[in-house]
Formats: sequence, C-alpha cells, structure tokens
Amino acid sequence: MIEIKDLHKSYRMGSNSLHVLKGLNLSIKEGELVAIMGSSGSGKSTLLNILGMLDEADSGAYNLDGVPIKNLNETKAAKYRNKFLGFIFQSFNLINYKSAVENVALPLYYQKVNRKERQEKAMKYLEKVGLKEWADHLPSELSGGQKQRVAIARAMAAEPKVLLADELTGALDSKTSYEIMDLIQEINDGGKTILIVTHEPDIANMCKRIVHLKDGVIVEDTFVEQVRALEYVQ
Ligand code: ATP
Ligand code: MG
Repeated sequence: MIEIKDLHKSYRMGSNSLHVLKGLNLSIKEGELVAIMGSSGSGKSTLLNILGMLDEADSGAYNLDGVPIKNLNETKAAKYRNKFLGFIFQSFNLINYKSAVENVALPLYYQKVNRKERQEKAMKYLEKVGLKEWADHLPSELSGGQKQRVAIARAMAAEPKVLLADELTGALDSKTSYEIMDLIQEINDGGKTILIVTHEPDIANMCKRIVHLKDGVIVEDTFVEQVRALEYVQ
C-alpha cells in the first residue's frame, strides 16, 4: 500500500539547512496499524506529511497503492490525496460554526457528492463513531473525545484507503485516549490501513507494528502483540 525508498527531506532556514529524513525506507501493507515513534524533532510529522501528500520529499521514491506520487501533476495529486488519504490531527481541526454532521460531510462537499448522499454518509460515519445523537451539536458543545470522534468520522467519510493521524490522542486524558484507540482498532479490524504518530508507548502498543525514527532513519521496526485498548479502560 505504501512503499518508501531512500527518502530525503531537508528544511532550509536562511543559509542553513536541516537534514531531517536521511534515506528512510518503509513499506506498509494494506490492513496494517502502524505507530510511528521517535523523540521530539525526529521528523515524525515531516514523514507523515510526506506520506499524506501534504509535503514533498527532496529525493527518494514514494509509491501509494502502486502509483509513483512524483509523476502526478498538481490536479491529479489533489484528487489522489482526497481519494486515498484521510487525516486526523491532535487539535481536531473542526469548523466551529458547523454542526458535527456538517463537519463530517465537508470532505464529501469538496468531492462534489450530492446533498442527500452527503447527509447519509455523514450520518453513517457519525453512527460508527457512536455520535448519532450528537449530529446537530456544535463542536463547542462536545467533549475532547467526542470532537476527536467527529474528526475520525470526517476522515472516514470519503472512504479513504489509508488513515493518517498525528498525535490524535495528544490533547486527551488517558481514559479518553484508550477509548479513541479502541475505535481506531475497530476501524482497523474492518480492514483500513492506519498510521499514527505518537510519543506515548501505551498508545503505540495498541498498534500492530511500531517503527522508531531516529537520526533521520528507522532504527527499529517491531511487530507487537497488540494490546486491546479496552483492557486499559477497565
Ligand atoms: P514532535 O514530536 O515535537 O511533533 P516531530 O518528530 O514531529 O516532533 P517534525 O515536526 O517532523 O518533528 O520536525 C523535525 C525537524 O524539522 C525539527 O527540528 C523541526 O524544527 C524541523 N521543521 C519541521 N518543519 C519545519 C519547517 N516547515 N521549516 C523548518 N524546519 C522545520
Ligand atoms: Mg510532530
């Protein structure tokens, strides 16, 4: 599903340049649930942004579902990103003046899905995250965990092949984090490929595989006996 070879990325700051990714290789199959770990500044978000086609590498190859990303022009890349990738952020990034269901429906609006289908799909995914009764509420009326559930439903609404999440539990208390991870595990059980960036070992242990980023490369790649999130909640 995801194939990365010899990826390099530097940031230029004035006359200096910071080499963040230094020949990184990573291969992720369909249906995996992968945690990307590493210390602050190790390049986790940089890697996730490149995987999410929000940023470009300086060199190296990235194939998503067999397609070399480099060969896509801007219009095709945007279409491809919308079709294949769903994003979840630490700060939820919901639109404050839109209701939960309107937030979930938004990506479908940009995909020019008609109104009726938008509403149906948005409700379907809100139900999947356990928030059907909260459809007409504004984000300000929801708890942090509920906001993240809306964000997860929104990421799923366009039915992407891969979900990418950067510190999705970073703003949540530990019980709520485990509940969110339980939902992530459930979505992964349904077959979705999911990558999460986290610096919390407990959260990473709920994934099937943990990759450690250090000095611009992957220094450890472990397949774990997955811990079910609900074991933590009880
Ligand atoms: P954290 O755990 O703190 O979120 P991270 O592993 O996600 O860290 P990145 O955000 O990928 O780290 O940043 C890697 C390095 O690149 C850091 O030193 C950061 O300061 C630098 N960096 C990130 N984005 C930019 C940018 N747009 N311009 C310049 N430097 C950047
Ligand atoms: Mg980061």
